Order: sequence, then C-alpha cells, then structure tokens
Amino acid sequence: MAAPLLEIKDLVTVFHTSDGRLPAVDGVSLSIERGQTLGLVGESGCGKSVTAMSTLRLVSSPGRIESGSIMFTTEGESIDLVTTPEKQLRQVRGGRIGMIFQEPMTSLNPVFTIGNQIAEAVQLHRKVSRSEARSRALEMLHLVRLADPEQRLDAYPHQLSGGMRQRVMIAIALACEPDLIIADEPTTALDVTIQAQILELLDDLRSRLGTAILLITHDLGVVAETCDDVAVMYAGRIVEQASAVELFSRPLHPYTIGLLQARPNVDARDSGPLETIPGMVPPPQDFPSGCRFHPRCSHAREPQCNVEPPSLREVSPGHFVRCHFAEEINS
Ligand code: SF4
Repeated sequence: MAAPLLEIKDLVTVFHTSDGRLPAVDGVSLSIERGQTLGLVGESGCGKSVTAMSTLRLVSSPGRIESGSIMFTTEGESIDLVTTPEKQLRQVRGGRIGMIFQEPMTSLNPVFTIGNQIAEAVQLHRKVSRSEARSRALEMLHLVRLADPEQRLDAYPHQLSGGMRQRVMIAIALACEPDLIIADEPTTALDVTIQAQILELLDDLRSRLGTAILLITHDLGVVAETCDDVAVMYAGRIVEQASAVELFSRPLHPYTIGLLQARPNVDARDSGPLETIPGMVPPPQDFPSGCRFHPRCSHAREPQCNVEPPSLREVSPGHFVRCHFAEEINS
C-alpha cells in the first residue's frame, strides 16, 4: 500500500518557559492521503496551530519539536520534515507544501503588488523567467476567480478586500502546484458569504488539482462542508478521529459532542439558546491529571476520569476516541 502523503507520528512540540516544559502538542498522530481534506478541529489554544507550524518546522523559540516524525511522501520519495536539512525544507515550504493563514494582510507584503508576490513565489521554486512568472501569476488569479485579474495583478494588498486578499493567498499557495496545502483558519476573518465562497473555491481546486488540504479550524460547520476526515484536538492531544460522515453521525467524545451542540444552525432560532461547553481549554502548564477534559465534562466519573489518562482507542473501523466511557455516552 502506498504511503500516505503526510504521516505525523507521535509528535511532541514543547515550549520551555519559566513555567517549565509545556507540551503544546503532546503525542499527535495524523495522516493525510493524496487529494483528501483532513479537518483539525478544536477551540483556540488546543494545539492545532502549533501542530500546523510544527509540520512546516516553523515553531519559533522557545518552542521546539521534541520527538516524533512527520513523513512527507511525494514522487516516490519520503522525507522526515522533522530532520530534513533546513535548505531542503525551504524548497518544500511554498513548493510541495503551500500555506494559507487566517489574516492575509499580515502574510502579504504591503509594499509589493500582488502580481509581484505571486511571481516571486513561483521564481523561488521554479527556474522560470520574470515574464513567465508574471504569466503564471495571472493564470493563478484566473484560477482563484479574482475579478478583473489583469488589473488586480498590479494592485497592492491594501487596495483589495479581505476576501480578495484571501484569494491571492490561495493563488500564492497553489502557484507551484503543491501536493498539500495547510490552511490555518483560512476563513475566520471573513464574513459568512465570502467564507462560503472561499471554502467552495478550495474544495473545487482540491478536486480539480488533486491537492490535499490540512484544514485547521475551530468551526465544525466548516469541516462539515469540506472535509473527508476529521481529527478533534483538545489540550495538545487528539481526542477523536474518524471520517467526517462517521464523526457527524456518531460523535463519541463528550468534547466533540459539546462542539457540535455549540454550533449555530439554521434551526437555532427555534431550539433556544446555543449550548456552550463550560470552562476553558487549559494552558499546558495547567493540564489536569487523568483525562484532560474531565473538569469540563458532564460525564466524568471518579476515580477513572481524574486519575487515569484515557488512551486513543479504535472503537469501530477507522473511528478513534480518547474516552473511558465513549461507547456508553453515545450508545
Ligand atoms: Fe469525560 Fe471521562 Fe470520557 Fe474524559 S474519559 S471525556 S472525563 S467521560
């Protein structure tokens, strides 16, 4: 069987601070197949973005990857992104792996036109002339369906709306035909209509170009629209993982169930106020003993939940849950 495009195994990323060793990502394993979309979901501060940054080895000091592997297999060759020399990794970033972040204004350079910025991304990874890179930039603006692409090529980021800037970021991420895109909250800063357009665009490009997507989001609604598989993260660990169809039809972890109940939907008007999960995601210095979710969990039982850390178990083919009582909770 062919190796997955990306296979993260037992990843541990820690921050060494005055509070000690803080494991923001604590033994995460994930894999993404070619052309598939994996949603990595959880509230702010649960470790999703650190997982994404670790994948590209972009975690800055005092954070560092302490252990684990991140195998990236493309064109028959596997490399471990944790140990690959920095020079080779620079070719992978923006080349074989594209990136889209939440706020494009901070990712785009305000003093260069968007045409220049897309062309520069192309020239960094491909041996092409300036005019070929500019043609490619124009082609990409057409691909991401930016209105008036010929005129926009010479526009500066501040002359575009938020939705247009995010289309430009997608153009940059796709310019070198990557095998994988890591999209960290790509639609969070956008209004709902533009958000839907951007998600539809990403999904369309994925199916046409065969690019896999690791979609980081706090929004299960976004996942339902776009993902093949879902991993739910809480306090540095994966707590539930399954296909999107399975997870939405049979969520088993109380945290996943809480996220689903906290999700606004069209019937919310008729069904009263949204439910919320009490409490907050604990920071790594305050991770509770036993199950890290136990202080917020309405199903917690003593002594198992506050003493014994649950392991991630396969409860049905391809459906993994980190809860002692998962089968009883949603039976
Ligand atoms: Fe809740 Fe216990 Fe399951 Fe943790 S192990 S999610 S505290 S029931």
